[in-house]
Formats: sequence, C-alpha cells, structure tokens
Amino acid sequence: MEIIHGKGVSGHMVRGKLRIIRHIRHTAAHIFTSAENEKERFREACAKVKDELTDLQKQTAEKAGEKEAEIFAIHRMMMEEEDFGECTSDLISEGKTAEEAVLQTGETLAKMFLAMDSPYMQARAVDVRSVSERIADVLNGRETTDFTMESPGIIAADDLTPAETVMLDKNMILGFVTERGSDNSHTAILARTMDIPAVVDIGSIDDKFDGKDCILDGNNGVLYIEPDAEIGRVYDDSCLYDLQKKKAEEQYRGKRCITSEGTSIRICANAGGIDDVMEAAANDAEGIGLFRSEFLFMRYGRCPTEEEQFSVYKEAVSHMSGRETIIRTLDAGADKQLKWIPSTVQENNPALGLRAVRLCLRHSALLYTQLRALYRASAFGPIAAMIPMITIPEELKQVKRIAEQAMESLRMENIQYNPYMPIGIMIETPSAALYAEELAELCDFFSIGTNDLIQYTLAADRENPEVIYLTRPLPKSVMQLMEMTAAAGKKAGIPVGICGELGNDESMTAFFLHIGITKISVPPAQILRIRGKVLESIREESLQKAKELF
Ligand code: PEP
Ligand code: MG
Repeated sequence: MEIIHGKGVSGHMVRGKLRIIRHIRHTAAHIFTSAENEKERFREACAKVKDELTDLQKQTAEKAGEKEAEIFAIHRMMMEEEDFGECTSDLISEGKTAEEAVLQTGETLAKMFLAMDSPYMQARAVDVRSVSERIADVLNGRETTDFTMESPGIIAADDLTPAETVMLDKNMILGFVTERGSDNSHTAILARTMDIPAVVDIGSIDDKFDGKDCILDGNNGVLYIEPDAEIGRVYDDSCLYDLQKKKAEEQYRGKRCITSEGTSIRICANAGGIDDVMEAAANDAEGIGLFRSEFLFMRYGRCPTEEEQFSVYKEAVSHMSGRETIIRTLDAGADKQLKWIPSTVQENNPALGLRAVRLCLRHSALLYTQLRALYRASAFGPIAAMIPMITIPEELKQVKRIAEQAMESLRMENIQYNPYMPIGIMIETPSAALYAEELAELCDFFSIGTNDLIQYTLAADRENPEVIYLTRPLPKSVMQLMEMTAAAGKKAGIPVGICGELGNDESMTAFFLHIGITKISVPPAQILRIRGKVLESIREESLQKAKELF
C-alpha cells in the first residue's frame, strides 16, 4: 500500500480505480515563416473550425433544441464575413503570424460591435472574439484535456481548472486528487458544492499508479493506493458512519431556525448549476443564497444568449418553488477565466484586475443581457440579482443604471418582469465593508463573501497554500469587517447573509448569529448539518439568557 498526503477539501471516503490525467502543455510559439504559408495555415484552421461549429450546432440542436444551437451558425457566418478574412489576411501581409492576425482581427471587430448603439449588436463582440479564439486555438494545436471516464473512478490530475471541474460527470467521478491547489480555490469550492470528495496539493503522483485500486479520504486529505485490509475496514466503517450521520441529520428537515427574539435564520444553498439547485431543493434549502452564474457561462464555453440564460434562471426558480433564488451576475476573471473576453487575460494581478463587476461594467452589454434575462425570469418567481466584488458605491450606481435600461427595454417590448426584483451585493472587499452604510442605502441586501473578504483583507491569495497560515485562526480584522457590515445592514433595515465557505464552518455559527446574520448559504449537502448547528447555537444562547435572568 502507498499512502499519499494532501489537503482534504471536500467530503468523505470513496473507493475506486485511479485514473491519472495530465494536461497537454504547449510551449513553443509559432514563428512567422512567409505570408503565403501563414495565409494557408489560416485557411486550414478556418476549415477545421467550420467543421467543429457544424458539429456543435448539430449536437446542441439534438440535446437542447434548434434555437439554442443557432449561435454556432452565427459564429460560422461571422467567419465567412469578408471583413474577417480580409482583415486577417492584411495583417499577415504586414508580417503577423496567423494566430496574431486572427486574434487582432477579433479584437478590432469586437470594438466595432461595442461602438454600436444596439445592445444586441454590442453583445456580438463576445461572439467575434470567441470565433477568433477558437481559430487561434486550432493554429496553436491546443487540444482540450479529456476528463471523461468509461467507468466510475477517482481522477488524479496535475491540476483542475474551475471550468474543467464544472464539466465533471458526477456519476462517473467518485472523487479527485490534484497535485496542486488550495482549500478556497473555486475548484475546491465546486467539489464541495457538487459533493465530490477531493484532496488537493498532494505533490507529484507517479504514472505507475494509473488503474490501481484506491481509497480517497476527502476529510483527512489522504490517498491510499492498493489499500490493505485494515484501511479497507476503516473505509467500510466510514461509509456506515456517514450513512448514520446523514440519517441523524434528517431530524432537521422541515425545521426552521427562529431566535429567542423572533428573528428567522434561513439556511440556503450555494449552486453552480441546475443540478445543484435540484440537490438544494431535495435537501430542504430555504432558498438559493448564491447561484454562481459564471459556471453556467463556462459550461457553454461561450457567452450564453439572453434566451439561454433566461431559460436556466427560470428553471432554477421553478425548482425552488416559491423560495428565493439569488443569482449572482457574472464573476469572471482571476481563476475563472473566460477566454472569449480578452481583457480577462494577460493581467499581471488578475485577482486585483478586471474581475466580476469591473469586467461587466467594461463590457456592459454582457451585464445588460444578463439583467434582461434575470428580469424576464423574475416574472416566474422570487428571483434576486446579486452583484459581485463591489468596491465603491459608484460601481453599484452604474449597475443600477444598466438595470433601469434593461427594464425600460422590456417595458417597450411588452415583456413581463418584476420591477421590484431585489438587487443585492456581495461584501467581499474591505472597501465595500467600510462603505457598508452608504452601500446599504443603494441596495436590497448584503451577502458576505468570506472567501474574497479574507483574501483581500489579508492580502493572501486564496489560490496559494503557502499563505493559508495567515487565515487560520481567522484574524480579528476580518471579523470586524463582517461585524461592521452586519451593523450597517441592520441600521438600514436590509438583510445580511453569508455565502462564503466560512458559512460551512460550525465553529463560526455562534459568531454569525451574534453579529446579526440572518441567512447562511452553504453547499447543498451541508444544509441539514448547518441547520442543526444553528438550532444548537440558538438553544445555547437562550439558555445563557435564562441563566443571566435567574
Ligand atoms: C466569496 O468570495 O466568498 C464568494 C462566495 O464568492 P466566490 O467564492 O465565488 O469568489
Ligand atoms: Mg468572491
């Protein structure tokens, strides 16, 4: 038996065969040969991409419908436009390689779209960038790494990006280990949301273990390769224990948490897609406290249309049958790169760059389209929009102006929507916490994003395991910012919740109740456990108060 230690970031113990997957890395950049040669390369790549788009259109039409598949026909048409080919060809004649030329063409045409008045045409900017990226990918010989499994097993990868994690098939992936990674990365968060056991930062793993029987302990961060009989027994006991624990948690189903002062504390769920929403509803979530819409965008591998977004948001609302569904607007950038938005790439400090609302305000057509889709879905149930990474009040004011435009356009088109759809914000930068009183006057609710609030307050990259020591135990500075936020929310009469991973940490529950948090949003599988903890904290607090009285 071999034992490999790492950092357990999600779940329980699982057993299965190990499949080692490594990313295909590309190093050598292509060097300009001759204009004639580069033009030929460009023509060949275009032919390949056209075939790919035709296939994608066919597959999407079969799986999701003709309307959803239309986007690929639009992309093909864009490539066939005279401007697209001519501009690229001219740049090649000036001495650019085919990939440089096609990316520059994409950028030039995107700027032309963005300068147009119609929001529909502005939204085409992302499409033309997406097309040129796809062609550049083919030119670079870049292939995507294949994580599909023929039978259920455990994946061992050098690393997994959030975009790859979100595409994992939960029925086939029993668990995963990665050579790198950290506790609060979006990959780890996704593993918890999807309830997939995961261990990260295990160091290098030898290819000779591929196909071997393994036990993965997601709690303690251990991978046992060819486990002996004793570990086999530990595994069997742990499965039994998990079952009993789940059964015991069932007592909290249907219970509601009300403090001695009569305040209701709602236990909601974080979701990255419709599957998680369904899981949340099945686990008695009192709402969706955070739907990370960027994962929806990642699944599409391009910018989903308004229609596509609308149908997903509407579906989420319908699964939650009358319970509030908070959809966070696109939080791309940093570790969640969408490569069809060029300004999210090549930043020296992406976590401090054009991320989340900053990116959406830069490409306002994206936000406009998303808000239109959300307003349309608001006609079908209680939905709310939540804006990530607000730093200064002006950003929120700009978002609200775009929301007004989205509503105005729906009014003109006689499309139904709820004009009172709440718009809340994430408090996840120290600046937002310090501005909380002002911001509370401008929005309908706060949700504290502890993952980023910790990262930005402590200047400790959430992706970097070397600086985790700064975050444990949680420094007073972060607690004070949370307290200020809760106090500002209370003063303005707006609810304040927690949707960062700290909500899932039982040792923090009493603190959250103490500062006045009224909603805790956690991975769907953790709802009943956290509700049990909240009920226990409320009981203890009442007991304490009774003792003080007598
Ligand atoms: C957070 O920062 O706490 C949060 C919930 O957002 P994300 O983890 O998606 O950045
Ligand atoms: Mg965040």
